[in-house]
Amino acid sequence: MKVIVEDIPPEGLHLQSSEEGDSFFREEEKLSFRSPVKIDVRVAKEGNKVLLSGTVETELELVCSRCLEPCRHSLSSQLDLIYYPLPSKIEGERELKEEDLLVSYYREGMVDIREEVRESIILTLPLKPLCRLECRGLCPHCGRNLNEEKCKCGNEQIDFRMAKLKELLK
Ligand SMILES: [Zn+2]
Ligand SMILES: [Zn+2]
Repeated sequence: MKVIVEDIPPEGLHLQSSEEGDSFFREEEKLSFRSPVKIDVRVAKEGNKVLLSGTVETELELVCSRCLEPCRHSLSSQLDLIYYPLPSKIEGERELKEEDLLVSYYREGMVDIREEVRESIILTLPLKPLCRLECRGLCPHCGRNLNEEKCKCGNEQIDFRMAKLKELLK
């Protein structure tokens, strides 16, 4: 989504768009999008600053960190950005302050939020995706998916110990 700064009216703009998820990512990043990336933002101008806030929503296919099955994940993230015109000369001596990190720049009178949308998707991805909260995962002994079937590994171990105990008691 690109916004021409000159075209932002004093009352601001409400913009919505739906774009292919793959268009934000390089091939090797390989995220499986299951629905388009929906962007819904309000854009306002304040002097030469552009303020942008809204949401990014999409649905992805991830791999459950417990059972390793593919699972759908709905993702929603908040965008709150300030864009300044890119200074014609970068002031070399200027220290990077913490607040600068939330600031982006636009060039040639055009705000392009592509990179920020991409980042917001990456930052909102769960570190350990789960197909469901109560996912039982895989048995560490036989590798069976415990959501689908019970295995006997746990029981066998107990039986094995019991057998030894019985033998000792003889
Ligand atoms: Zn799972
Ligand atoms: Zn097992």
